Amino acid sequence: MPGSAKGYAILDNPSLNISTAFTRQQREQLGLRGLLPHKVCGMQAQEQRALENIRRKGYDIERYIFLVALMERNEKLFYHTVLNNIEELMPLIYTPTVGQACKEFAHIFRKPQGFYITPDDRGSIREILDNWPEDEVRVIVVTDGERILGLGDLGANGMGIPIGKLSLYCACAGIHPRQCLPVMLDVGTNNQELLDDPLYLGYPHKRIQGDDYLSLVEEFVLAVQDKFPKALLQFEDFLTPNAYRLLNLYRDRVLSFNDDIQGTAAVALAGVYASTRLTGIDFKDLRVMFLGAGSAATGIGDLLVVALQAAGLDEAVARKRLWFNDIGGLVVASRDNLMSHNLPYAHDHPPSSFIEAIKTIKPHVLIGATGAPGTFTQEVIEAMSAINQRPTIFALSNPTSRAECTAEQAYTWSNGRVIFSSGSPFDAVELEGRRFKPGQGNNAYIFPGIGLGAIACEASVITDEMFLSAAHALAGKVSEQDLHSGSLYPPLSDIRSVSKTIAVEVAKQAFAQNVAQIQRPDDLEGYIQSLMYQPVYAA
Ligand code: NAD
Repeated sequence: MPGSAKGYAILDNPSLNISTAFTRQQREQLGLRGLLPHKVCGMQAQEQRALENIRRKGYDIERYIFLVALMERNEKLFYHTVLNNIEELMPLIYTPTVGQACKEFAHIFRKPQGFYITPDDRGSIREILDNWPEDEVRVIVVTDGERILGLGDLGANGMGIPIGKLSLYCACAGIHPRQCLPVMLDVGTNNQELLDDPLYLGYPHKRIQGDDYLSLVEEFVLAVQDKFPKALLQFEDFLTPNAYRLLNLYRDRVLSFNDDIQGTAAVALAGVYASTRLTGIDFKDLRVMFLGAGSAATGIGDLLVVALQAAGLDEAVARKRLWFNDIGGLVVASRDNLMSHNLPYAHDHPPSSFIEAIKTIKPHVLIGATGAPGTFTQEVIEAMSAINQRPTIFALSNPTSRAECTAEQAYTWSNGRVIFSSGSPFDAVELEGRRFKPGQGNNAYIFPGIGLGAIACEASVITDEMFLSAAHALAGKVSEQDLHSGSLYPPLSDIRSVSKTIAVEVAKQAFAQNVAQIQRPDDLEGYIQSLMYQPVYAA
């Protein structure tokens, strides 16, 4: 037991507290006699008790509250329980339940977690970072709350996202909890309902914008680099124009990435790679259509271009394989209302509705990232099924209520021929005696491994090729059995091994591109394994 903490100071400290698992000898030494019930019980019994408590609750939001409280009480037990029951608990600590938790953040708030910065902190961000109790921060997830999942501007309520993502960094890739820092860049909100809510906890003003906004972000980034020079900065759930602006500002000068753009891209690319094993279509021959042309869809497009180039196509040819639709229809050159990130994909083609575009362009793969539920209608799925023996369809919008279609709709309307994946989890579907268990295109397959690989080799930046390596590594973990059961991804229960494999490949790529800043270890995998936090009690 480190330090000189005794008695309740230990039980109140989530990284020291193992509660009823303290042995008689430890209880004697640590001044815990009398503070715990008699029976010494190990982690297994504690896990069982935690699961009983979770399962007896009537609502997922209550399960979420219980899990957050467990994290604040006994961190090792929390991570052990999450990791051992990841299929059941990830949807509670992350999407979809975290969406509800963010909406209700100000009403279910109990204990502050993470770090809050507002425009009032301008000029003193570096100084206040010293208030954070840890010096060895290696991963920071930051949001400004303006586009939380597909739920829009949730202001400071969006803090649930960095907290949730960092708990996945720890659970999935073994980044030590002390090395994780969730940050809310609370620049106000334009959500009037929140501003009118007397319990809202955020900066109670409209969002700052333009140079005011960018200069605050810049001050934050510089402060982080000074205080935590080895930290990776993950930008999360920013509104698309800001997401791109910040990505382009920082990707070449700061160890950083945007998970909505780049993490989503790598997880989708891995799924596309895996789908070709079922369709038999050569990856470089694919035509891909997107519904949605925002940060997630365009990020996937951009990485697909890099991947198609790596497969031998010219950049221009690669781009022509990708077609986007947004709220205004097919993205084509003659439109005058496109955003700058859409322009490289605005091909010469007559304006067209989404359904006409499917029928004329005949994509093999359809990817939805709209935040608009129900947009993959029966007509859409049937059109994809008329063109393809095995249509590949990703309904990526989160949370579940925003998915472009449900798994059941996709299997039913395609007569069981679809290769389906979604952003939020769906239960298995039974159809005419067959059982389909769709895989979740969950960013949690990618970002923890990317982060672990990048910080392990002290990369100075994260390159597109590192994301490509991550996608290849993830696709390589998909077994024939996974594919056969309808999943383009490995089981989440393999997540530690998946993250480690990704981390090793990402670090190898960083060394190959000379962006790693440590001497390459002889045993890279052993080195990375040795960095991973294990949620176990010391013997
Ligand atoms: P965004 O706001 O940047 O983009 C949304 C796009 O969808 C825009 O181009 C918009 O024009 C288009 N759109 C909206 N409604 C439409 C409609 N009815 N028909 C056609 N197009 C429509 O948002 P984003 O960051 O790209 O995120 C979109 C969704 O993707 C969100 O729900 C988010 O949760 C989800 N997402 C999922 C994952 C994942 O599962 N791995 C990762 C990131 C984002």
